[in-house]
Amino acid sequence: MSSHYEIIIIGTGPAGLTAGIYSARANRKTLVLEGPEPGGQLMTTTEVENYPGFAEGIQGPEMMEIFRKQAQRFNAETKFETATEVDFSKRPFTIKTDADATYTADAVIIATGARAKRLEIPSEQEYYGYGISGCATCDGFFYRGKNVIVVGGGDTAMEDALYLANLANSVTIIHRRDEFRASKIMLQRAQNHPKIKIITNTVIEEFYGEKTAFGKSLKGVKLRNTKTNEITDMPIDGVFLAIGHIPNTDLFKNSIETDPVGYIITQGKSTYTNIPGVFACGDVQDPVYRQAVTAAGSGCAASIDADRWLSEHGK
Ligand code: NDP
Repeated sequence: MSSHYEIIIIGTGPAGLTAGIYSARANRKTLVLEGPEPGGQLMTTTEVENYPGFAEGIQGPEMMEIFRKQAQRFNAETKFETATEVDFSKRPFTIKTDADATYTADAVIIATGARAKRLEIPSEQEYYGYGISGCATCDGFFYRGKNVIVVGGGDTAMEDALYLANLANSVTIIHRRDEFRASKIMLQRAQNHPKIKIITNTVIEEFYGEKTAFGKSLKGVKLRNTKTNEITDMPIDGVFLAIGHIPNTDLFKNSIETDPVGYIITQGKSTYTNIPGVFACGDVQDPVYRQAVTAAGSGCAASIDADRWLSEHGK
């Protein structure tokens, strides 16, 4: 089966679905391939309070369902399929999916996002979204006056700790080594902050918690000293993982220009990639802001860029 679209969007978070809304509303025949995590990272968030327009806050999955419905309202097709192969070497571009489908497109918008790295220990999965977070800016507000941990020794960990110190009662940075990747100035700021304590040569061995009226809630962690193997218990309200992000760009290796970490490089303030007719938006090209609202904004930009590019090429 082969079908042709003017614009195919790969990935659905706020970026991909916003690109879908704008492309379909521009009357472009649009397909959105949902990918392996329909809705993206917001599906693992609980309450979203910082997206303008939702004064009372909204659950992440509910918000993504509204985005999807809004795109469908303008006749964007959304399919629960994952792109498995792309050919950007000739136009129209070709995309194959895990449903054995082959699609062609005049323009492609990549919105495959990024994922926060996780510790990959069994109890982490159980409490992710219930006391464990990968985004201090998103979830820090819920920990006002509480005690939190930040895991990591890079700039993100320092920045998150400093941000959280404005909200929380105490912040403990847990780092697996005693040397830091963080820049000196950021590290010093954290070290000098009265609310921030740093524990080195230590890893989280286990998360534990209890059932509550709202599901479950993290209560503490077991820490292991990597030098002595000594295990200690630390009651805690929240844990923020700041151990890096991984952009979802495996599919585009060898076809799209990325930075050394794998983030797609976009040109200037635009969403143009190095391949004319292929655009990128959202976290897959943004290691800096990584917010739902900035992703949605760049999805809008990608759609406008794609629409204008198509018009310039007689489509
Ligand atoms: P980094 O890769 O710099 O740091 C990740 C940290 O997490 C490291 O300390 C690493 O430990 C630790 N880590 C990784 N995996 C694990 C694990 N499984 N268990 C425990 N610890 C782990 O990522 P960042 O997100 O901090 O920074 C990414 C880039 O963005 C950097 O270039 C940074 O400078 C930049 N940035 C700049 C900012 C600014 O200038 N304001 C703010 C934020 C980021 P180890 O050191 O042992 O490997």
